[in-house]
Amino acid sequence: MPGSRDQQEPLPPMPTDWRRALAVVAHPDDLEYGGAAAVADWTDGGREVVYVLATRGEAGIDTLAPAECAPVREAEQRAGAAAVGVSRVEFLDHRDGVVEYGPDLRRDIAAAIRRHRPELVVTLNHRDTWGGEGGGGAWNSPDHQAVGRAVLDAAADAGNRWIFPELLAEQGLEPWNGVRWVAVTGTTTPTHAADADPGMERAVRSLMEHKAYLAALTDQDPEEYVRGFLTGYAQQAAARFGGRPAVLFEVFPR
Ligand SMILES: [Zn+2]
Repeated sequence: MPGSRDQQEPLPPMPTDWRRALAVVAHPDDLEYGGAAAVADWTDGGREVVYVLATRGEAGIDTLAPAECAPVREAEQRAGAAAVGVSRVEFLDHRDGVVEYGPDLRRDIAAAIRRHRPELVVTLNHRDTWGGEGGGGAWNSPDHQAVGRAVLDAAADAGNRWIFPELLAEQGLEPWNGVRWVAVTGTTTPTHAADADPGMERAVRSLMEHKAYLAALTDQDPEEYVRGFLTGYAQQAAARFGGRPAVLFEVFPR
């Protein structure tokens, strides 16, 4: 809309000179709501993407007790990842809903970074809120805040021999100082954008794989809900990407 405050400078595209990415988030479905369309495009181009989940999302469905919920959500996450070309999915087994920011979480994420040696690390909004026009905005989940912050820290921890020396001594994980960027999705202060169009259909299928979660979340037809949400977000983001549907990232270079 000409003259509106949405009319902003177009964002540059995401870096493409990398081979391996590691996406680390708190819950099954966090990546499907955020960056899956970009992930589908990346894996299409022959890049390797691995998912690491801090929890199994076992506190995410009101009608399912955690012990029953965890295997359901793990299976849905593996299927959702496969839909965008991601075959490796790992779980760190922190407790859903009460993930604590601190050295234990940083160590577990640093270990994952050392195992997979990515150049690009992706995570979800680590800030207090989801932002909003004129300030405020919905409060972010404590798990997202804890994991997002720990990911930003662990990108450096992974390269430091002396911060978690037990990773080498006990697990044989050599330092990896090759992370060049940490890219945060779900941000209201984006610095870069990725084309959402090529991966959108697979992103829709990816989120639709979270069948039990979506059934508990909404009475709406799942495909209608998922397609509406993801294309709506990409269309809104188009205002920052020359009118093209986009996934937005806040990139922290290292
Ligand atoms: Zn989440």
